Amino acid sequence: NKDNQMKESFTAQKRKLGPRRGFSTKFVSPLLANMENEKSSQNSELRGSSQNEEVDERLKNIEPRMVELIRSEIMDIQQKLTWDDIAGLHSAKRAVQEAVVWPLLRPDIFKGLRRPPKGILLFGPPGTGKTLIGKCIASQSKSTFFSISASSITSKWIGDGEKMVRALFAVARCHQPAVIFIDEVDSLLSQRNETEHESSRRIKTEFLVQLDGATTESEDRILVVGATNRPQELDEAARRRFTKRLYIPLPDYEARLDLLQRLLSKERNIMNGNDFDEIARKSEGFSGADLRNLCSEAALEPIRSVDCRKLDQIDITEVRPVAVDDFFKSFTVVRASVSSKDLDQYIEWDKTYGSGS
Ligand code: ADP
Repeated sequence: NKDNQMKESFTAQKRKLGPRRGFSTKFVSPLLANMENEKSSQNSELRGSSQNEEVDERLKNIEPRMVELIRSEIMDIQQKLTWDDIAGLHSAKRAVQEAVVWPLLRPDIFKGLRRPPKGILLFGPPGTGKTLIGKCIASQSKSTFFSISASSITSKWIGDGEKMVRALFAVARCHQPAVIFIDEVDSLLSQRNETEHESSRRIKTEFLVQLDGATTESEDRILVVGATNRPQELDEAARRRFTKRLYIPLPDYEARLDLLQRLLSKERNIMNGNDFDEIARKSEGFSGADLRNLCSEAALEPIRSVDCRKLDQIDITEVRPVAVDDFFKSFTVVRASVSSKDLDQYIEWDKTYGSGS
């Protein structure tokens, strides 16, 4: 039947729902997705377990296929992540620990005046570690992590988006403590305009209702983490719900140095302290994701210097180590992805609406 078909096609798809929206990202109907693909064993395990479970009271008004989808596609199998895995961002990390991680771990202490915010907003340029922080909050507070891109709710789920939002919060309530990470939250909670579709208006209203529900039910241990590269698009209603708003800036010199050393530690290299220092200086304005691209590009150089006729036979130990010159080449192709004009806007928004950290 239709439901089963839909379920099958989704589980056969990529595990993560909703890739980041890009300029040319096209909407691909889940029903048209290739149904031939093999299902991942993880997914079938998850499906199996949920079939055997008794239906939770909190899920009784939710369509079972949506519960399954959320469990298999949006709920993340916990991967361990520590604060040390995130380079730089010291004050943001400290603020997040105090504001939300400790309270999730010790709800008995953090009540009354110490009650934590139920929603925090991480804003700043793309590729600076907002998703990493979201994952780390979940990992460190021993919470279940739900991750969804808001643009997928509004595009992929058109028609069903509202129900999906309700289902998401209901499933999260069954897996407390829970962290719901919503990427590109601006596309869900942007300022209303005349051209807004009726369906996206309903999704937005439902989301605000759920967010408020999570806030008033003080027993619930659900934290909503919103991430956005376009904070200026959020309206007043959205800002009010995300009481803590943290700026996640581009990495400074120290953070870039740290990140470069980490990335290169996994690759054979002959770079010394001065080399790292030089690259960290030269990469001012790069995001963490840009730095990663820079390193990947540099790491390909030794391979490019191998005669391609020998590539299929060569032993990995014969490939020369990465050297600083490879980075000089890499700098000619990889550029900073954030403009200084964009940066000014973040700083301005932070001054007006940010929580400081
Ligand atoms: P966004 O801010 O867009 O959510 P992500 O957290 O997804 O960015 O970061 C994208 C990638 O860039 C990460 O997977 C990681 O490899 C790298 N990265 C970005 N910032 C950091 C950081 N502060 N520490 C470690 N890695 C980082």
